[in-house]
Amino acid sequence: MSRIAAFGGAYANPYAVRAMLADAKRRGCERIFCLGDLGGFGAEVEALWPLLEEWGVQCIAGNYDVAIGRGDPDCGCGYADERDNHYAQIIYDYTRAHTSPLFAAWMRELPLELRETIDGADVHMVHGSPLEINDFLWESLDDEELRLRLADSEAEVLLCTHTGIPWQRRIDDRLVVNVGAVGRPANDGRRETWYAVIDLAEDAARAELVPVAYDWRAQASSMRAVGLPEPFVETIETGWWTTCLEVVPPRERARGRFHVYRETLQALIPEGEGLTDAPAAPTAADEERPVCELLGTAVFPARLWVYTNFHCNLACAYCVVASSPQASRRSLGLGRFKALVDEALVEGFREIYLTGGEPFLERDIVLMLDYASERLPTVVLTNAMLAASWRRWPAASGWWCRPRWTGRERRLTTPGVGQGPLRGRSMASRGRARLGCHCGWRRPRRRPTETRSSRCGRCWPSWESSVRTSPCGRWWAGGSQPGRAVPSNSARSWSHRR
Ligand code: SF4
Repeated sequence: MSRIAAFGGAYANPYAVRAMLADAKRRGCERIFCLGDLGGFGAEVEALWPLLEEWGVQCIAGNYDVAIGRGDPDCGCGYADERDNHYAQIIYDYTRAHTSPLFAAWMRELPLELRETIDGADVHMVHGSPLEINDFLWESLDDEELRLRLADSEAEVLLCTHTGIPWQRRIDDRLVVNVGAVGRPANDGRRETWYAVIDLAEDAARAELVPVAYDWRAQASSMRAVGLPEPFVETIETGWWTTCLEVVPPRERARGRFHVYRETLQALIPEGEGLTDAPAAPTAADEERPVCELLGTAVFPARLWVYTNFHCNLACAYCVVASSPQASRRSLGLGRFKALVDEALVEGFREIYLTGGEPFLERDIVLMLDYASERLPTVVLTNAMLAASWRRWPAASGWWCRPRWTGRERRLTTPGVGQGPLRGRSMASRGRARLGCHCGWRRPRRRPTETRSSRCGRCWPSWESSVRTSPCGRWWAGGSQPGRAVPSNSARSWSHRR
């Protein structure tokens, strides 16, 4: 069996590369491979060359090395977004200006891939993918997409980098390892960077992704000393990516702290509304950072939606989750619900919304609402048909979720569907709970028809206007039972899209 190490994305970070090389030797790696991208991000690209020579590292070229070697005008990273390209260009121009002609010529001679049988294992090393040097092999690619990307290589072990986030997967008896980047953290909130140790033998390859602890302070001060943008340095100091996020797929991006460029978010928010519903005002550092969080903004409220169960006492024809009395219960249960609420608190959620099915068919719904509302503002969506039989009213704020009651739906659903919610509402108004109306309830007409104000919020296309023009678009409270803080109007207008 042979043990090798593979790293990529050195990104002009000699401090991390030196620590990684020493770690690989300590772990008994007989050979060390670099999968390319020596420059980019850091300040000391030239310092890598002696390290590679001293430790006998075998290199292939990344797109960065090809571009520097040829003197291209840009790095060829493969970004599609102009803001990603803007930040990539800043560091590319710096790197090109600080790479000696000799080192650039050395890069020019690097092979674009390596294919070798090591101890019986057929190993293929590329920078991006077997298709393209700047292809992004993300973990979120499904097996079919991955197979397509690997079609040009039948090697048992494929090693790649380029995305900067490490992962490994077995697919069709092949081992695919993205070794991550050793020069920049992996957008995981850790300052450590990553490389891979691979044990190779015939039919028995296995890999370990290894974090590299190194002198990140030295790297940060070397970047500051030459005036590289502060958001780049912040990534080294915090482990979160602050630029070039648009290229990152949703699943990977969601794991990071920042999700979109600030200007993207601003463009999505209606004029006059704030960027965030968080109480804290952005700090000077926030303003300097080109990206921001999505969770907790008016576009993406920090709200956890929980489906308590999937069955319902009704069977509305338009039900988006196909609930009915016959639907499988798929009950969440009190224990799991409490764990979710606890997790939501830790993750920074600020509201909890319960829906179903009809939540009040869930056995422990009142206990659930009590548990949630003691910790976070809590809203439950209900058709209110069962209000008369609730054993006790929960302390949580709640909204009615009235089924529509046009003639067509009445035939398709339980007879008298329109009357139950009204009965429940009037019980509540007599003092048993603090509740609110979300869909513009007003005194029923003698012959109810589907008007804008009597529509349930499920009439999605008209929902916004329904809320804003509702004659009773306000909260009303009944009795002395304590209620939670009433969610904001903006929260309300998003609440019913389930
Ligand atoms: S009341 Fe709501 S959950 Fe129940 S069937 Fe109708 S739309 Fe679905």
